[in-house]
Amino acid sequence: MIVIMRPEATEEHIAGVCERAKEMGLAGHPCYGVQQATISIIGFDQTIAPGDFSALPGVDRVMRVSAPYKLASRQSGLPATAIKISSKVVIGSGLTIVGGPCSVEGQAQILEAARIVKAGGGHMLRAGAFKPRTSPYQFRGLGIEGLEFLADAGRATGLPIVSEVMTPAMVERVADSTDVLQIGTRNMQNYDLLLEVGKTEKPVLLKRGMSATLAEFLQAAEYILSAGNPNVILCERGIRTFETHTRNTLDLSSVPSLKSLTHLPVVVDPSHGTGRRELVLPMARAAVACGADGLLVEVHPDPDRSISDAQQAISAEMFALMVRDCQAIFNVLHPEFARQQVQINAE
Ligand code: PEP
Ligand code: MN
Repeated sequence: MIVIMRPEATEEHIAGVCERAKEMGLAGHPCYGVQQATISIIGFDQTIAPGDFSALPGVDRVMRVSAPYKLASRQSGLPATAIKISSKVVIGSGLTIVGGPCSVEGQAQILEAARIVKAGGGHMLRAGAFKPRTSPYQFRGLGIEGLEFLADAGRATGLPIVSEVMTPAMVERVADSTDVLQIGTRNMQNYDLLLEVGKTEKPVLLKRGMSATLAEFLQAAEYILSAGNPNVILCERGIRTFETHTRNTLDLSSVPSLKSLTHLPVVVDPSHGTGRRELVLPMARAAVACGADGLLVEVHPDPDRSISDAQQAISAEMFALMVRDCQAIFNVLHPEFARQQVQINAE
């Protein structure tokens, strides 16, 4: 249920609606729009009716949201969400390109990778310090030391950083050292982990489960939103199909579909989505052409020597070419952001 407040509604009116929700064993999540506030009423709401809220002071109208993901839904009346990561990076406002190696392998490697991302025109640095690997005998990351190397490389280049957190117990520690918490495909339905990142205010990059439907994906996002964290970025990273030529099947139709179902920003990972470096550039271009707000791409100073995911790692040259092409495609589709880009670059 969404309660849409009148433009002149006061804080007291908003508090009154939240109080009514609380009395009914529900929770009210206010969201302040430019014109008016909306309040999402969340909980086991089968028994509530619009009339429970429509007569309260300051209320304009009440809408039922039929989707099971109430806060993530476009039906909630919220405009597209843009998520501020730093003074220069806002996901959902312009094209955001996140690049970096699969794993932090050492201090020199991650610093060099950060310089490649920066020089190539990328906006954020990614790398895993805690790696979920299929086999327990594969490299599972440098852990806390890797996180510190990554944070140093981010500081040295001025790039905000993204890194994966795998367990609820590590959320606080990983959040202390990163700008965005990544939830990997294997943990998309780890509900305790989703609730734990939902208790922080850190932006969360939520990867689609490798066999998750869009409805399941959005309900996973809903766990984070319902715990109080509104900063969720969805990431399409390919799904399992019968095709074995590629590592996964990059489902680009999910991008315009998600855009119509949710107000949350959507980024695409063509690296894990294909598993093949020669496919990263064409699929990155296609992702931007179909409406992605950003890309997450694996780039390595010496791609063939990557300790993890070497087959999909691209070179510095390829990364710079990808940024150039994707920015050009984005600018054609969104001329309003092309103008902003010129201003940011000139700063
Ligand atoms: C990653 O981004 O390094 C990663 C492990 O991705 P995924 O969870 O999509 O496999
Ligand atoms: Mn990887």
